[in-house]
Amino acid sequence: MTDKYVYEFSEGDASMKNLLGGKGANLAEMTGLGMPVPQGFTITTEACTQYYADGEQINDAIKAEILTYVGKLEEMTGKKFGDLDNPLLVSVRSGARASMPGMMDTILNLGMNDEVAARFAEKTNNPRFAYDSYRRFIQMYSDVVMEVGKSYFEKLIDEMKESRGVKLDTELTADDLKELAEKFKAQYAEKVGSDFPSDPVEQLFGAIKAVFRSWDNPRAVYYRRMNDIPGSWGTAVNVQSMVFGNTGDTSGTGVAFSRNPATGESGLFGEFLMNAQGEDVVAGIRTPETIDQLKDENPAVYAQFADIVSRLENHYADMQDMEFTIEDGKLFMLQTRNGKRTAAAAFKIACDLVDEGKITPEKAVAMIDPKQIDALLHPQFDTAELKAATPIGKGLPASPGAACGKVSFTAEDAAARGRNGEPVILVRLETTPEDIEGMHHSQGILTARGGMTSHAAVVARGMGTCCVSGLGDIAFAADGKSFTLAGQTFSESDWISLDGSTGNVYGQQIATVPAEIGGYFGRIMEWADQYRTMKVRTNADTPADARQAREFGAEGIGLCRTEHMFFEPDRIAAIREMIVSKTVEQREVALAKLLPMQRGDFEGIYEAMEGYPVTVRLLDPPLHEFLPTDSDDIVALAADMNISVDELKNVIASLHEFNPMMGHRGCRLDVTYPEIGAMQTRAIIEAAINVQKAHPEWTIVPEIMIPLVGEVKELAFVKNIVTSTADAIIADSGIALEYKVGTMIEIPRAAITADEIAKEAEFFSFGTNDLTQMTFGFSRDDAGKFLDAYYDKKIYENDPFARLDTEGVGKLVKTAVELGTQTRPDIKLGICGEHGGDPSSIEFCQKVGLNYVSCSPFRVPIARLAAAQSALNNK
Ligand code: PEP
Ligand code: MG
Repeated sequence: MTDKYVYEFSEGDASMKNLLGGKGANLAEMTGLGMPVPQGFTITTEACTQYYADGEQINDAIKAEILTYVGKLEEMTGKKFGDLDNPLLVSVRSGARASMPGMMDTILNLGMNDEVAARFAEKTNNPRFAYDSYRRFIQMYSDVVMEVGKSYFEKLIDEMKESRGVKLDTELTADDLKELAEKFKAQYAEKVGSDFPSDPVEQLFGAIKAVFRSWDNPRAVYYRRMNDIPGSWGTAVNVQSMVFGNTGDTSGTGVAFSRNPATGESGLFGEFLMNAQGEDVVAGIRTPETIDQLKDENPAVYAQFADIVSRLENHYADMQDMEFTIEDGKLFMLQTRNGKRTAAAAFKIACDLVDEGKITPEKAVAMIDPKQIDALLHPQFDTAELKAATPIGKGLPASPGAACGKVSFTAEDAAARGRNGEPVILVRLETTPEDIEGMHHSQGILTARGGMTSHAAVVARGMGTCCVSGLGDIAFAADGKSFTLAGQTFSESDWISLDGSTGNVYGQQIATVPAEIGGYFGRIMEWADQYRTMKVRTNADTPADARQAREFGAEGIGLCRTEHMFFEPDRIAAIREMIVSKTVEQREVALAKLLPMQRGDFEGIYEAMEGYPVTVRLLDPPLHEFLPTDSDDIVALAADMNISVDELKNVIASLHEFNPMMGHRGCRLDVTYPEIGAMQTRAIIEAAINVQKAHPEWTIVPEIMIPLVGEVKELAFVKNIVTSTADAIIADSGIALEYKVGTMIEIPRAAITADEIAKEAEFFSFGTNDLTQMTFGFSRDDAGKFLDAYYDKKIYENDPFARLDTEGVGKLVKTAVELGTQTRPDIKLGICGEHGGDPSSIEFCQKVGLNYVSCSPFRVPIARLAAAQSALNNK
């Protein structure tokens, strides 16, 4: 921190982005490059932070400094605030460190008042232009600074056009616009309760405050959360002397990209409008012309612009997004920044820049946002149809992609209709493991409850199926055959569409376009793999998922959740039989039925992974999850098992837990029923032996993982079941199979006693879903209900189940890494919680020295790229 809060453009450069924001730093850089930039100054991001520290006030020292810079700008331009002969008019715009397009607002023509406008009209001999600028200013100021709302002003414009019998704004005369300015001021006075400020200095401070305030508006806060931008960064404010694109037919304004941001094709791409200002180009009031037409309109300006574009792209070595204005035939650059682009364009541009010798492959890997990969792997909405649609609700973006289908309320119905080729969206209060088949046959899943690591979210991500979770506004009808949302009622014949990347829900059909991976993707991923130091594994429970993950480049399985296999219709009966068994003998009989099925699953998984490591976790969830809840199912099961319905109901009641997440689950199941762990170990080891024998070219080393350990003695107890079972089988098999036994670190106690735990564990896998819920003490399934309040109150900036809380949970991870390594220097360290597929969490994993991350198959490419970027950042 210094006590300098304001910089002239000529005092800065591109390296000062943190202080000047992206826009300010680039305006400074363009100034330094000798490009035509209307001069001005930047009020720093630190001034914004100070504004909040001072209780949302610009303090006197900063005010004085700003006024000094106004003076300097007046000197530089020869114009003066409020001067009738030569008034200084400025634009005021926000500019944060990371670009947040459309998140904050702009004010143009600041410095105008009745007298200035009148004199301006005279001096320019262009009253239309003067009053057009004035009415725009009043409109923008009212909207942005006083939050009066755009629509009142738009209505006044429409009324004026109607009364004059014209269609376009440009057809309104100078007198019309003058009258409009009066009406706008009256509107302002009515809504705000005081007159429109005529003092330019008062206007300026109002505008600066509005920009600072906009840093915390709800859409900015939401954008930051989606894009991992910390609230502490603040935004800078750029005050720039105005140039006018609306002085007449030799003026204009436009936006352009140095390459096509949708496809990545090279060549200038953009639009402009003659006799227009600022927002007109994007507002769609008039249809802009393509940038090529500027060549005919003004060849000299076009040539100058094309030259600047290519210089800027070469200078920044990236595709540029620029704004420009032509004032009476003279070109001015108002902005340049690295342009936002589609995923497909991002990959093409990065490869092309390498081929053109402008960047290295390292830079190509570093410049792509890993989260964009989602758009290449999952179907997306047709852009035009999406634009025309309005969401009717917003839940959590639990699993990316776009889905459209008819509503289905039960997993059975979804499975039946889905199998018949009907596109369905499964809409549930929440999902349970029983719903797996229905989920599988759905285009998308929508739940009213549940967070980012809820069952629906985790399973949908694993399947690569779109999911929106935790949309609490859904109200189900008592008969479960319809739901209402935003005042509309939906039943089975109704279409809905889900955007799993934003959480938006639409009450209509929106076409989707399939995912498409091009050759550029492969090239970038190949480079990424060269720079990466962490391995990337996958969380996969079935051979099909494992194969999918291999296609995406997974280098092993970091978590196979064995329970997911138990819900297949042919095995649920056996698992239920095991649960209701009263004696060890009865249980062993049931387990013996499960053994061949589990062994078969594991064989399939080893085959799919072709010798890459496979970590299988012993049974984890509370047993009651497997029991039927529906009374028909209970009757059927009782009959199957030859016990009375009452007896079965008693068993079910006895398994009830008040807090199952902290109840009889994880390794506790093996402590109470060692025969479960023994059966699973047998299945894992026998499968490995069979596949090893079939494929001598692979070295299969099964990794058996014991979940939810908090105390080394319980680990030792379960490990003993595993090793005694495994060793006996291996001894009988005649081959020298190696295997490893390790644990998940999911309980804070395990993390802080990791030196002890490591005496028994050959590897740690951080189960950061449970570790997060146990560390925060709130449930992963319920937190969604109150986290929004925490974001609103700025207590949390992110969902800790989606992005690792590095300060708290991360500290436990770091501690466990250090303690574990002290005991066992070669201990293998990985993460298999959902954070293993989140780019910023992956960066943390790199920093603390994990050997691998593991995530659902569709996130494997994201993790490969994020791991490469983390390695490059931490070189
Ligand atoms: C975890 O807790 O992070 C984990 C991977 O296990 P699960 O999500 O199955 O509880
Ligand atoms: Mg867990």
